[in-house]
Amino acid sequence: MNNKTKIHLGTDIQYLKGVGPKRGTFLNSIGIKNVHDLLRTFPRKYLDRTNIKTIDQIKVNEKVVVIGTIESFGVQRLKKGKYFKLTVVDQTGFINCIWFHGISWIVDKFQVGDSIAIYGKIEFYRGYRIIHPEFDILGGNDNPLNTGTIIPIYSTSSLLKKVSLDSRGIRRLIDKALLHITSIEDHFSFTFLKNEGLYDYYKSLHEVHNPSSNDALKSAYYRLKFDEYFFLQLVLAMNKHQIKNYKGKKFVELGEYAVKMYKNLGFTLTNSQIKVMREIRSDLSSNKPMNRLVQGDVGCGKTVIAMLTAAIIVGNSSQVAVMAPTEILAEQHYGSFKEYCDILGIQCKLLISNINDADKKKIYKDLKEGAIQIIVGTHALIQDKVEFSDLALVVIDEQHRFGVEQRKNLINKGRHVNMLSMTATPIPRTLTFAIHGDMDLSWIDEMPKNRIPIKTSIVQRNQIDSVYQTMKKEMDKGRFCFIVFPIIQESDKIDAEAAESAYQKFSNDVFKDYTLGFLHGKLNKDDKKNIMDQVNNGDIQCLVSTTVVEVGINNPNATIMVIENAERFGLTQLHQLRGRVGRGKYQSYCYMIQRKITENSSKRLDILEKYLDGFKISDEDLKLRGPGEFLGTKQHGYVSSKLLDIANDGEIIRHARTRAFEIIENDPKLISNQNLKLKLLRDYKHMLEFINIG
Ligand code: ADP
Ligand code: MG
Repeated sequence: MNNKTKIHLGTDIQYLKGVGPKRGTFLNSIGIKNVHDLLRTFPRKYLDRTNIKTIDQIKVNEKVVVIGTIESFGVQRLKKGKYFKLTVVDQTGFINCIWFHGISWIVDKFQVGDSIAIYGKIEFYRGYRIIHPEFDILGGNDNPLNTGTIIPIYSTSSLLKKVSLDSRGIRRLIDKALLHITSIEDHFSFTFLKNEGLYDYYKSLHEVHNPSSNDALKSAYYRLKFDEYFFLQLVLAMNKHQIKNYKGKKFVELGEYAVKMYKNLGFTLTNSQIKVMREIRSDLSSNKPMNRLVQGDVGCGKTVIAMLTAAIIVGNSSQVAVMAPTEILAEQHYGSFKEYCDILGIQCKLLISNINDADKKKIYKDLKEGAIQIIVGTHALIQDKVEFSDLALVVIDEQHRFGVEQRKNLINKGRHVNMLSMTATPIPRTLTFAIHGDMDLSWIDEMPKNRIPIKTSIVQRNQIDSVYQTMKKEMDKGRFCFIVFPIIQESDKIDAEAAESAYQKFSNDVFKDYTLGFLHGKLNKDDKKNIMDQVNNGDIQCLVSTTVVEVGINNPNATIMVIENAERFGLTQLHQLRGRVGRGKYQSYCYMIQRKITENSSKRLDILEKYLDGFKISDEDLKLRGPGEFLGTKQHGYVSSKLLDIANDGEIIRHARTRAFEIIENDPKLISNQNLKLKLLRDYKHMLEFINIG
């Protein structure tokens, strides 16, 4: 290719003037392969009038942005050590920037006369100063205070610096690209954009890099975000539409089992449970298969709902499969289901890989003949050997832990199977729509009335003794306690040793008059089971452990959960640990021992102290951490986009969702929306679960 070749979006980035092979290789390595990728390199932040102060306006202890010119800089020697000082001036005064660390890194960054933006907390010591400020070198005229313009600042990795590309350099490249590219065909029609009040794609990209005003910038991002959410919702809408298109058996009657179960519950359903049961019954009585996700915190009564639903199916002579992601969870569910099934006279069996071949064979046979009415199990249920006489309901626990294929395989074992997914993994509501939008959603947001809310407190090191005293009092009353130690990596011996030595110390010292148990990840299966049985039977009074979270411990007598180094756990983990107590009729307590006090860890523990509702906690967690970590896996293809801020994009998500679902309703195969179809097939194919539109 030579310089005369026309530059278009797909042009290899190295052919853009000013790039070349060396820079091109570096840009490639950070994901900028072509001109389009470059244009989708969004600024890290913007400088505009509203967030800048002149030096005569700043106050001590304020965090501010100042823009000025570099007057001087250099290393200053002290009796002990040295520091780096940079002096910046504007028309109203001067300010010093000081670095004590990283001097070798900083030393060749500056040139006298460069325009610079500095950011940090103002101190006063021989004039205003900022210690270790953030800074950006700007182009000569880049002072929004003078020009009124908004300046995009791009992140620059150390890699880019190696090829002399700083924020200014990237801007120059983008401006060059925009000289060549003066329009881009939009996948949305002109009418659609107009009706929805959306910028066209080209205008959005242009504004993002050359903002004409704050409002325009906002509209540009709105459009770019809209795209991301829209296509995701389009996928969800198509999946949903497809499922709803099947015609299957209607389950209108409750049948003998469900009626009997209602009568024998021994408690009344909460309003939330009643609402969800109504939703499920309405799904079942239609001939379109149910595809519903029930969300609710541990202990809110989801299993009861699943069992009532299963009872309706079984009462209408069809079969039910319950699938859980781990053997422990499957066994736990089996325990709960079996209890109900035995009372009702329903045939219920467990299928996991860890049972003997003769039993397996018998199960396969009975399932095929319809003698087993409810089967509970793990992935073992998916195998080809497993066949049903008439599978009509699949209950999936923690469905996000199964792959698309796995779910599909189980569903394909029946004709038009109803799907009931359950999750206790707290996902913020905005995220739920983004991820689970292909299902109908139900929330159980109410706990059974007989529960006493757990009291949670953060404990500092000097208050630990009083916690031990409280534990003794509880154990004397016959209650049970947990002390949990963090484990950072399963392979990390040190953590286990810390817990073990603590256990020894407790046994010989503070709790020498009590029976303690010790549970950790390295124990073999039988030893683990043995200890868990002791816990559940009340043979020990206090369990010291590293790994209670994943384990099916259910002791209604447990009233105290002590979490050591609580700051080292994630919020969801802490919430789940806390869920091990407060399961019976006694007031329970959770003590989070904070060993290392940082602003962030205190904020996080505060959330737990303040809220008991796991979904509320995850909302707060999302605000603190941003969505990246929630979506972690690449499974949801859109996450990589740094554009999205799901915690705050609720309005855009709803907008995109409404339009996407509307379009699929009217044009399910996208026959009159070819552009959308093309983009979908190009970028989102891996997410099309039940459909083949290509
Ligand atoms: P989940 O599956 O959501 O963790 P479960 O269905 O296992 O919760 O219910 C937890 C416990 O609460 C069970 O012992 C169950 O019998 C009981 N339970 C469920 N619903 C109610 C209710 N409405 N009133 C009283 N107890 C309930
Ligand atoms: Mg139905």
